[in-house]
Parts: sequence; structure tokens; C-alpha cells
Amino acid sequence: MQVLDGKALATTIKGEMREEVDQIRLSGGNIPHLAAVLIGDNPASESYVRSKVRSCEEVGFHSTLIRRGTEITQSEVLEIVEQLNNDPDIDGFIVQLPLPKHIDEDAVNLAIDPRKDVDGFTPVNVGRMTLGLPSFLPATPNGILTMLDRYGIETSGKEVVVLGRSNIVGTPMTILLSRKGSPGNATVTMCHSRTQDLKFHTRRADILVAAIGIPEMVTADMVKDGVVIVDVGINRVEDDSRKRGYRLCGDVDYKSLESKASAMTPVPGGVGPMTVVSLLMNTLKASKRK
Ligand code: NDP
Repeated sequence: MQVLDGKALATTIKGEMREEVDQIRLSGGNIPHLAAVLIGDNPASESYVRSKVRSCEEVGFHSTLIRRGTEITQSEVLEIVEQLNNDPDIDGFIVQLPLPKHIDEDAVNLAIDPRKDVDGFTPVNVGRMTLGLPSFLPATPNGILTMLDRYGIETSGKEVVVLGRSNIVGTPMTILLSRKGSPGNATVTMCHSRTQDLKFHTRRADILVAAIGIPEMVTADMVKDGVVIVDVGINRVEDDSRKRGYRLCGDVDYKSLESKASAMTPVPGGVGPMTVVSLLMNTLKASKRK
């Protein structure tokens, strides 16, 4: 089985970006600048944002982290978004999700200037993606496309089954893999919690993308021999043998699938690093607007 090593690929792509940023610096151009807004103290969000900021430094971007406590009000969050929209130094920014319950995520998303929406979550970018127009593509699905492309995994004419229909992973993944072009041109089935007989669908998949958020739910009996598996899930499960008290695992039972899949992403070190790389690619693109 081929391991689709997202960490190694992300390092390669970051090296390429670093060279491009060096060239930009030498020619006196605009150095990309990403801002990240982190609200509250969700440990997973903290670790994602840390990794995004660290990656900016690795490729030579400027980065700004704006941190606020959970006591922040909705209007204060919208004020931060407005300031970032209007700040000429900031090329793109993200508001790390999830937000505390009293903040309306939709209202925050709608307030983001689509030209700085490097997460690709605003209606303008989602609409443009759906129409096949140039846009900022959502980071996780785009990272998966980059990975399939760079590892030479053919999607054209393949049966792809996507588990999950969220706005940030499942739905855009379905749109991008089924649209004309490469990677794309696949026949895509999207499954969710109301799907009847999940196994019927997953067994037909040439490529299975799991984005459900249930630890190790996909097992060997659910897939056919030779399937390519992209495991998006990042789940924390209790593990007393680890110093930190938990381990990370995906939505796929990696061990049982190793002997059946032809290629598979590990967790951690698969889709996660590619998501960060996509965000950097979008930021670089946003910076070229100037
Ligand atoms: P959501 O919780 O928003 O969506 C989960 C989806 O899975 C929903 O559409 C839900 O269906 C579906 N689902 C739930 N249970 C079942 C089931 N038993 N059978 C079939 N479908 C089911 O999650 P996200 O899309 O945000 O994230 C999914 C996973 O990916 C999480 O583990 C998350 O941490 C991880 N993630 C990883 C990223 C990375 O960079 N690697 C980035 C983003 C997320 P329904 O709509 O009916 O409720």
C-alpha cells in the first residue's frame, strides 16, 4: 500500500513557495501577509492556528495572530473582521472555527471581504467555485486535490464516495471532484448521517473520502480491494499510555485497511498538512492582487 504522505508533500510545496517568496522579496514585491483570528481556548483550534502561523514563517510570509477570550461580543468580532477587511497590509485572513456558541458564525462569514477570504468559505467564493470561476478554494478539499494530483492518482471516470456533507469539507469536495477538469471528472456520491446502507455505497468506491468526525468508523468490510482512501477526520481518543492522555486518529480504521487499500492518507500527517499548504497558496494568490 502506498502511504499518501501529506507531511512530506507539504514540506516540498512549502520549499517551492519559499523560493517564490524569496524572488518576490528580491524584486521588492509584496510579501504575503496572513492574519488569523482565534477566539476562546479550544485546544484543537489553538493547535491548528499555531501550525498555520508557523507555516507562514517557514515560507517567509508575514503573519498576525489576533487572540480574544470567549467573553468577546458578536459586534466586537465583526469589528475585528471590518478592520482586517480594510487593512491594506493584510492580504488574507481567517477566523478559526468553531466560534463560541453566542457568536453567529454565518454573520461573521458574511462580513468577510471575499477578496481576503483565503479559507474560501464566503458565499461569493463558494458560488464562484460552483460555477467553475476563479476563486479561493476551501483549504481542505483543495489540499486533497493537490495531493491526488501530485501523487498521480487518477480521478477521471472513477467512482468517488464522499462521507460527510459539511460546508467546509464534504460538499465542496463533492463539487470539485465532479466538475470538469483534472483532478475532477469523477462520478461522485455524497453520503451523510441519513444515508441508508452506507456500506452499499462505500463498497463501490474507487476513491473514498471520509470526513465524518467519528473515530475509525470506516472498516475493512466496507471497502473493495484496491480502494484509495483519503481520511480527513481528526479525532482525539483517550489513551492513558500517552503522556498527553489522548491519541489522534482518523475516521478510518487504518490498521484493518492497510492490507486492502492501494493508497491511503495517515492521521496525523495526511490531509492536515495539505490543508495548511492550501491556505498558504490562497494567501500568496491574494497577495498578487496588489
Ligand atoms: P461536520 O461535523 O461538520 O460534518 C460531519 C458530516 O458527517 C455530516 O455531514 C454528517 O451528516 C456526517 N455523518 C455523521 N455521522 C455519520 C454517519 N454515521 N454516517 C455517514 N455520515 C455521517 O464535520 P467536518 O466536515 O467539519 O469535519 C469532519 C472531520 O474532519 C472531523 O473529524 C474534523 O475534525 C476533520 N477535519 C479535518 C481537517 C483537516 O485539515 N484534516 C479540516 C476540517 C475538518 P449530517 O450532515 O447528516 O449531520
